[in-house]
This record gives sequence, structure tokens and C-alpha cells, in this order.
Amino acid sequence: MEHAAAPAWAMLAYLVAGVFFILALRGLSSPASSRRGNRFGMAGMLIALVTTLVTHDVANIAEIGIAVLLGGIVGFTIARRIAMTAMPQLVAAFHSLVGMAAVLVAVAAFMNPEAFGILDAAGNILAVSRVEMALGAAIGAVTFSGSVIAFAKLNGNMSGAPIMLPARHVINLGTLVAIIAGTALYAMAPEAGPGEGWVFWAIVFSAFAIGFLLIIPIGGADMPVVISMLNSYSGWAAAAMGFTLHNTAMIITGALVGSSGAILSYIMCRAMNRSFISVIAGGFGVDASAAAAGGGEQRPYKSGSAEDAAFMLEQAEKVIIIPGYGMAVAQAQHALREMADKLKAKGVEVKYAIHPVAGRMPGHMNVLLAEASVPYDEVFELEDINSEFAQCDIAFIIGANDVVNPAAKTDKTSPIYGMPVFDVDKAKQVFFIKRSMGGVGYAGVDNDVFYMNQTMMLLADAKKMVEEIVKSLD
Ligand code: NDP
Repeated sequence: MEHAAAPAWAMLAYLVAGVFFILALRGLSSPASSRRGNRFGMAGMLIALVTTLVTHDVANIAEIGIAVLLGGIVGFTIARRIAMTAMPQLVAAFHSLVGMAAVLVAVAAFMNPEAFGILDAAGNILAVSRVEMALGAAIGAVTFSGSVIAFAKLNGNMSGAPIMLPARHVINLGTLVAIIAGTALYAMAPEAGPGEGWVFWAIVFSAFAIGFLLIIPIGGADMPVVISMLNSYSGWAAAAMGFTLHNTAMIITGALVGSSGAILSYIMCRAMNRSFISVIAGGFGVDASAAAAGGGEQRPYKSGSAEDAAFMLEQAEKVIIIPGYGMAVAQAQHALREMADKLKAKGVEVKYAIHPVAGRMPGHMNVLLAEASVPYDEVFELEDINSEFAQCDIAFIIGANDVVNPAAKTDKTSPIYGMPVFDVDKAKQVFFIKRSMGGVGYAGVDNDVFYMNQTMMLLADAKKMVEEIVKSLD
């Protein structure tokens, strides 16, 4: 590989790609412009890829072509087949690949520094490159193992409940200090070639371990923050790769993904009433005993049918719909929009209330409602609509659970304690669609809303229930 300075036109092309990526982020900040944003992102990536291929003295373009083709086919097939409900796991899995790529680039540079043009006159790897490699490998390894655990938790291979190791903070801090000390040692070691390779490998393995240790204690309400944080890490891992590979476009893209992911994590933390530091330190202040599944004793509740629900919905003046993960599972968004259209035609005011962590990934509900062509001006965020429940006739909960659980306000031992939730108890009537009384939300806790006087449980698959309501509204 040749690392002479890239020609001026290439730098310009990378700059244009960078501008496209910034426009992409801007577009993605609103559902209305997100498609345009995505297109900008794709165009930027195409420019960056072509420029890299043209300007680098690529050893074997055929090999790269085959790799791109194979990767492209796999990615295309997975993206086409993936169910919307499995999207969060898929994102976690893809983040793990970015992390592993960063580790492999650093390992390749370590094994064959000459090919990367990072040797000094004495034949040692340049100190600056050693720092880049150590950081790239460390961030990449944390991203990899953290994302694998996030995947397992989201995919149900591992319980979503926190797993608390004794003395975990001491272990985490010790490992972090070891990684920083190892990086400093590796940077200072004059002959940090394969002979002294143990420092490099120790950094890599400690980083794999800390990614694992940081994510296993994360449960319930903190998981969304972790997902956006891993997204941010994958960006920094890519930026570190960009330094090792001397690729400006990769540094720009990585830094954009890294910083926007960090901002998203911060926004999620604020929305969830969580301290950023306590989440990244791994399950700080969470009481492990509180994460047990709820639903112990039987309590009385009222249930109703689709006909009952349709009758009362028609009579209402204002209905607020709260979608959650179950709507995604049932793919009920189209039927839901049809129901809302019918109600609006009958003069009922309909609004949608979206919690920042509803579903299983940031923006999950917004994407589904947009897919069903729900008008954006009917969709409101938690802080903008929460005060309206007091004036609403029916809070229509469809597949949501944790985001309406009052335990978040009252029960200090609950894993969701402190998270803001919708004040559905203020509505005159509450309809609660879920499949069974036994099923709990992601955090695994019982919900007092089921048993309120004004609550009518509509126990069925969300799509089936809404379709029946639609029929009854005719
Ligand atoms: P929850 O996971 O709390 O609840 C989902 C509800 O949907 C359950 O009550 C379940 O009950 C019901 N359900 C499931 N399938 C169906 C179906 N086919 N038809 C009808 N109902 C169904 O969802 P929320 O959206 O309220 O909360 C999100 C939770 O996920 C929060 O705890 C959040 O922290 C966490 N999380 C969020 C992430 C994000 O980024 N948004 C990422 C990771 C975790 P039943 O089984 O009885 O049907």
C-alpha cells in the first residue's frame, strides 16, 4: 500500500464527501427529510469509496472487488430479509463488525508495518502510529465485545436483566487503567515490534474484556443509551482506522458518527433521567434484586372486546395513541393508521405520543408510523404531549408497557425508576392492548396501569385487535 500524500483533487473529493455526510446528518434530524439525508449519505460514501480505490496503489483490485461483492450480497440479503422487530439486533451486529474491522486493521499494521508505511529509519513502528494502533484496537475491541453482548440481550439469547459481578467497578476501573497504561508503555517502547508484542496484545485482550464487562450489567431502561453509545464507539473505531490507513474520508466519517452517536447518547440519557457517567460505568446504582420479573400475585382487572373499544372510541373527543414494541412485533402500524383515519372522519381528535425509548431502538416508532404514512404533525414527543393526558378521553396503549409504567415514578427499587413515563392515569379511559396478562415489558416488571379502575385490557395480538376495531367502526 502506498501512503504518499493524496493528490489535491482527492483531498477535495474527500472534502465533498464530508460535506455530503454532514448534509446526511442534517437530513436525518427530521423524519420528513430523512430519506433525502440517506441519499446524501450514500452519495458521499460512493465518492469516498471511488476516490480511495482510484488514489491508492491497490495491490489487488480483483481481491477487493470479490470482497466487496460478497459483502454486498450478504448485506443486501440480510437487509431485505430482516424483520423490522429484529432491526436493533441487526444494528448491534453491524456495529460489532465495525469494531472487529478496526481491531483487524490495527493487527495487520502490527504484523506488517512496512506495508502500512509506518516504519522509521531504524525500522521501528513510529510512536504516533503505535498510539493510533493501540487506540484503534482498544476502541474496536470494546465496540466488538460490547455489541456482541448487546446483540445477545436484544435477540433474547441472554436475559435483558442486569448481570452484576461483585466488585465490578473495581474490575472495570482496573482494566481501563491497564489499557491506558499499556497504550502509554507501547507508545514509549523504542522497539515495540513483534518482539515486545505482548503489550499490544494485552491492550487488545483487555479491551475485549472491558467491552463485555461494561455491557453485561446494563438492563432495562439503560439499554437504549448503550445502543447509541456503541454506535458512537463504532464511529471512533472507524476514525482510528482512518489514522492507521491514512485515509481522510474515514477519519471524517468516523468522527461524525462518533460525535453524533455521543450526542444521541447524551440526549437519550437526558430523556431517561439517567446520568451519562453512571450508564457508561456499567450498571451504577441499579439494584440487581429489583430486576426480577413481575406478575406474582393475581389482581383483578377489566377486559373488553374490539366492539366495546370501537364503541367508546367513537364517543371520544380526543384519543392519544401510545405505540410501543408490541406494535412493531405485530406490524400493526398500517391497521392503526386506518383506525385513526376512521376516527378522524367521525370528528375525533387523534394524536400519537412517542416515548424516546419506545420500541427497541432510538426512533423505532417514528420509522414505523412514517412507513404507515401517519402525518408527522400528529406525532408528538413525550415532553410535548404529556400534559395533554389530563384532557384526553382515551389513552390507547398499543404494545407499549414500560413507557407507561408508573413504577418509574414511585418505586425506587424498580429498574426503570427515574425514567419519565406517560401520565396515562390522568386520562378518563385507558385501553391497553397486549397479548396476555402474564407478558411483561423489556424491564420485566409488573404494571399497575393494568389494574386501574379506568383501564380496559384488550388482550390479543395488536394487529388483529386493531383490525377488528376498524371493522366495528364501519
Ligand atoms: P415493552 O417492551 O415495555 O413492552 C412491550 C409490550 O408489547 C408488552 O407488554 C408485550 O406484552 C406487548 N406485545 C408484544 N408483542 C405483542 C403483539 N404481537 N401484540 C400485542 N402486544 C404485544 O415496550 P415499550 O415500547 O413500552 O418499552 C420499551 C422498552 O425497551 C423500555 O424498557 C426500553 O428501555 C427498552 N429498550 C429500548 C430501546 C430503544 O432504543 N428504544 C433499546 C433497548 C431496550 P405481551 O407479551 O403480553 O403481548
